[in-house]
Amino acid sequence: MVEWARLDYLKDTQVNISSEFSIIKKYLSGIGASYLTTNGINLAGGDDCAVIAANSKLLISTDTSVAGVHFLKSMPAESIAYRSVATALSDIAAMGGNPIAFNLSLVMPNFNSDWMKAFKKGLQKISREFQFPLIGGDIAKGPLQISVTVLGKPEKKYLLRSNAQSGDVLCLSGALGSGYIGLKEYKRSGELNSKTKPYLFPSAQIAYGRMIASIASSAIDISDGIVQDLSHLSSSSGVGCNVDLDEVPVVDKQYKKQCLEFGDDYQLLFTVPPKKLFTLQAKLNSCKKKCHTIGVMGGKKLILTNNQGSMRNWDHFQ
Ligand SMILES: [Mg+2]
Repeated sequence: MVEWARLDYLKDTQVNISSEFSIIKKYLSGIGASYLTTNGINLAGGDDCAVIAANSKLLISTDTSVAGVHFLKSMPAESIAYRSVATALSDIAAMGGNPIAFNLSLVMPNFNSDWMKAFKKGLQKISREFQFPLIGGDIAKGPLQISVTVLGKPEKKYLLRSNAQSGDVLCLSGALGSGYIGLKEYKRSGELNSKTKPYLFPSAQIAYGRMIASIASSAIDISDGIVQDLSHLSSSSGVGCNVDLDEVPVVDKQYKKQCLEFGDDYQLLFTVPPKKLFTLQAKLNSCKKKCHTIGVMGGKKLILTNNQGSMRNWDHFQ
C-alpha cells in the first residue's frame, strides 16, 4: 500500500524529489555557514524551518527577479544569483539595517550542473561580501526566476520612507544611470567590464544606509527610477518636493533622461533636517562617501524641472 502511494505522488510532481534534494544539498547548502553563529542563527537548512535567536527587531523583505523582466537569461549565472540577492539587500540598506541571513527560492526550467555551479559562486560572493548566510530555500521547475527574502537587524533607529518633513534637504548617495549604461553595454559586448559591472553585480548600499540611519529623516532605495521612487517617498510622507533634474548627478550626460528614469541603480534617496546636513556630510566624507543634495522638501506637490522647463509634475494630494 505504501509503495503505491509513493509512486502516485512521484508521477504527479513536476520535479523529481530525490534530485531536488540532491541539488539543494550540493549547490544551496553551507553558503556563508561561518556567519551563522555571529548572526544569531540557531539552525539553517536540513529541517522544515531555519531558527533565529532574535532578541531585537528584525527587518524582512522579499524581492523576486524574473528572467526577461529583471535580468537577461543569457547573463552569467554568477551574476544572476548575485544581483537577485543584491536587489533584495537594497531594501535593507534603505531602512538603515545590516543583513543577517537570506532565504532563496529558485525556479528553473531545467538542471545544468555548470550553470548551478556558477549560480552557487554568485551566492557565495555576496554572502562573503556582506557576511550573511543562506539559511533555507527551495527549488521548483518552471520559467527561470529567483525569489530572495532578506532578514536584517536595524540600527537603533530605522529609516522609513514616510517621515520626510517640510524643509528637509533631499539627498542622493551617488550618481544615477549605472544600471542603464551597464545593461546597454552588456547587450553590446556581453562582457564583464567596468561599465557592465554595476548592472551585473550591483552594490547594495548597506554601509551607507547604516551611516545615515541616525541622522536622516526618511529614505528609499532607487530601484524604479528617481521619479517613481521620489514620488513614493513624497506621497508616503505627505510632503511635496521641488527638484531641479539638472542638479541630479548621472553617470553619462548623453543619456541623462534614461539614466534618471531606468532605475536598477540601488542608490539611496533620503531626506535630512537642514541643521543636521553638515554633520551628515562630515560623517560620509570621513568614509570617502558622497552626498549629493538635489532638492528641498516642501509644499504639497512634487515638481520636477529641467532646463527645458517642467518635465513632470505630479500631485498626489488632491
Ligand atoms: Mg525598495
